[in-house]
Amino acid sequence: MIPLLDLKAQYRQIRSEIDAAIMRVIESTQFVLGPDVDAFENRFAAYCSAAHCRAVNSGTSALHLALLAAGIGPGDEVITVSMTFVATTAAILYSGARPVFVDVDPVTWTMDPALIEAAITPRTKAILPVHLHGLMADMDPIMEIARRHRLVVIEDAAQAHGAEYKGRRAGSIGDLGCFSFYPGKNLGAYGEGGAIVTNQPDLARRISLLRDWGQESKYNHVVAGFNYRMDGIQGAVLNVKMDYIESWTQARRSVAAHYDRLLAQSPLMRPRPPSHSRHVYHVYAVGLPRRDETLKMLHEAGVGAGIHYPVPVHLQKAYAGLGHGAGDFPVTEALAGEFLSLPIYPELEPAQVAEVVGTLEKITLVEAA
Ligand SMILES: *Cc1c(COP(=O)(O)O)cnc(C)c1O
Repeated sequence: MIPLLDLKAQYRQIRSEIDAAIMRVIESTQFVLGPDVDAFENRFAAYCSAAHCRAVNSGTSALHLALLAAGIGPGDEVITVSMTFVATTAAILYSGARPVFVDVDPVTWTMDPALIEAAITPRTKAILPVHLHGLMADMDPIMEIARRHRLVVIEDAAQAHGAEYKGRRAGSIGDLGCFSFYPGKNLGAYGEGGAIVTNQPDLARRISLLRDWGQESKYNHVVAGFNYRMDGIQGAVLNVKMDYIESWTQARRSVAAHYDRLLAQSPLMRPRPPSHSRHVYHVYAVGLPRRDETLKMLHEAGVGAGIHYPVPVHLQKAYAGLGHGAGDFPVTEALAGEFLSLPIYPELEPAQVAEVVGTLEKITLVEAA
């Protein structure tokens, strides 16, 4: 069996360091925020080439606080995509604002900048692109449009730790960048976690208040805040992993390059990152017409595969209130019907990559016959 991802393989490599780091937190009883979280924030800010980082308890909380820190609330509109995990949309709704979707580009699968201006209204306050699967959205035109219309840009970089666009790191181009450290993400905690990076000190200060009950000092609550603090244990785990994130990212890129080579002659749709981008392959997705049958047969043949994501947000029952229907975002809907995510994680062996491709080719040949 080749799994979609293997968190145990990573733990085995770093077990002694992780166990020691967790024990140190328990002995110190610094269970919430504290020195390990502070140290992680400094390292992660540097990793993202951003001036400030504030760690929180999930990627969803990071998005929620980024929106609130930017002053977004009821009556406002935020332009985003439906080709994402539901958290992006949920966070906009938590802030009281209305998500306004635009379709994605058929090559990069990220926000199509050519569609943004038509979606801008007098209520629009922000643009929230998603760096899907580890490839950054086309940030230059997005930033240019945002500047012209005085809009805030918040990057959903939950899948894009260390990704680059024209030499600039994910999270550092917009006003705010949001990350998730959910265990399966490229940088994963041992539980829930998230962070916001920014170059603007006033935004960082507002996030510090909002994540900790709006307290300026103990029991002095100056804004209505939240309990969105990061655990000390997660800070300690993430600090250990910061020593490895770059080599793990390179390993993911090697796995992806191997898939690219083996699939070069295949008719399947594959990731095609622009040459100016550094894709970090949180997901390696291919696209094929008989996706659901292929997925089932891959599972039967012992190959873990998944779908990111089978139903776009605008067609989810939970968000029917936004008033969308089938056909509203044709590129998003077509991709959702074809995407198939192949196993990818830093420890995946070249022979396993070859086995995945061999199995996939056999299945698609049988289907074509
Ligand atoms: C994982 C993810 C989130 C949410 O992060 P959590 O830590 O699970 O709350 C938001 N946006 C995208 C694109 C994600 O992949």
